[in-house]
Amino acid sequence: MKSAVFLDRDGVINVDTGYPHRIDELEFIAGAPEAIARINASGRLAIVVTNQSGIARGLYEEADAHAFNTHIQDRLRAWNARIDGFYLCPYHPDAIIERYRQDHPDRKPGPGMIERAIRDFHIDRNGSFLVGDRQTDIQAAQAAGIPGYLFTGARLDAFITPLLSTS
Ligand SMILES: [Mg+2]
Repeated sequence: MKSAVFLDRDGVINVDTGYPHRIDELEFIAGAPEAIARINASGRLAIVVTNQSGIARGLYEEADAHAFNTHIQDRLRAWNARIDGFYLCPYHPDAIIERYRQDHPDRKPGPGMIERAIRDFHIDRNGSFLVGDRQTDIQAAQAAGIPGYLFTGARLDAFITPLLSTS
C-alpha cells in the first residue's frame, strides 16, 4: 500500500482565477510542478480532489474540466512530474443544471472524493495528507481521517517539502 498526497486544484496547483476552465487560463502556482515532482519522488501518489461547481452553475461542462486536467498533466511533463489521479465534483445543492443539483458526499467538505481514491488506489491513510487553500479542504481531510494543511505560502514546493519528510 502506498500513501498519498491529496491536492486541491484551484489555488494550490494552478492560480484560482475564478472558475478557471479554459486551458489558456492555466497558470501554475509558483513551485507547484516542482512540488508534484517531489511527491512523485517520495513514493507517494499525487491525487487531485477538486470541487468544480462551475459545472453545476452552467459556466462550463464536465468535458472542459477534464480537458483542463489533461492540460495540467501535459504541462507537468516538462518537470517530469505527474498526477496519479484526478477526482472532480461537479455537484452543487443550488445547481442551475438539474442533473448536478444535489448535496453530494463528494463535494468538499465531504470526504467522498478522498474515500473513493483510497478505495481505487488502495491508499494507506498512514503517511497520507491533504493540501488545500480553504477550510472546506481541511474539513474534507479531517472527515477522511488524514491531516489537512492550509496552503497560504507563496511557493508550493517550499510548503510541501517539509511535510514529505515528517509525515
Ligand atoms: Mg482551492
